[in-house]
Amino acid sequence: MQCPFCKKEDTKVVDSRTSEEGRVVRRRRECKNCGKRFTTYERCEGVYRTPKR
Ligand SMILES: [Zn+2]
Repeated sequence: MQCPFCKKEDTKVVDSRTSEEGRVVRRRRECKNCGKRFTTYERCEGVYRTPKR
């Protein structure tokens, strides 16, 4: 994951939690280079429940 501030790839996850009943994962990340923190959202897309006939 790239840091939005200094564009370095060297970031670590400091906290992660799910929201919207587990469909979205929020991750608090911290950049090892500049020390700034930012949040990323991870959403599962392309999963459709096909109705059973
Ligand atoms: Zn950074």
